[in-house]
Amino acid sequence: MAILPIRIWGDPVLKKRAAAVSRITRAERELIEDLKETMAAADGAGLAAPQVGVSKRIFTFRIGEEVHVLINPRITKREGKIIGEEGCLSIPGVQAEVARAKYVVITGKDENGKSVTYRLEDSEETGRAGTCVQHELDHLNGDLYIEKAEPNTLSWLIEDENEMGEPEIALLEATPEEILKSYRAKRLPPKVHISEMLRKRVERD
Ligand SMILES: [Zn+2]
Repeated sequence: MAILPIRIWGDPVLKKRAAAVSRITRAERELIEDLKETMAAADGAGLAAPQVGVSKRIFTFRIGEEVHVLINPRITKREGKIIGEEGCLSIPGVQAEVARAKYVVITGKDENGKSVTYRLEDSEETGRAGTCVQHELDHLNGDLYIEKAEPNTLSWLIEDENEMGEPEIALLEATPEEILKSYRAKRLPPKVHISEMLRKRVERD
């Protein structure tokens, strides 16, 4: 098992349509273990194989504290609409609001090759696994949430203080072009809020 480097937006692998998995071999099983370990280390809600540079249709995601795996996933039903804040480990320090289906049915295979179906509805009690699987499935198609963000909601997360001197996160509006340029130049706005693990990937040594 290994923690793999997370690919940052601008890396071509994130824009590729990932290939279907025809057989679950040792390589896939190792990849799944690494995805789980990397997702835990990055404290992510989900992680798709292209985010660690492997263009295969596999992702891991959380339902509450439990970690699940889907191979060759397919959404068979979408109902309703919700708009919620999203972030992405491959687009660190950034968030935006995105419209998603409120209820989805998603099927695929688990790590043992067994067919599985999840019925997920986002709510305060059950969390946001429904949004998460839609976000992760997009990664397998080379789509990033940033491209479907609601207008004027795309922002850097900046570590700030309120009037009482307590830490808080402020939003600094940004455009996709500015964000991409910052990652490419490895020069992010001052005090951008990202984990140490990802900071190493997006800042100069
Ligand atoms: Zn993502």
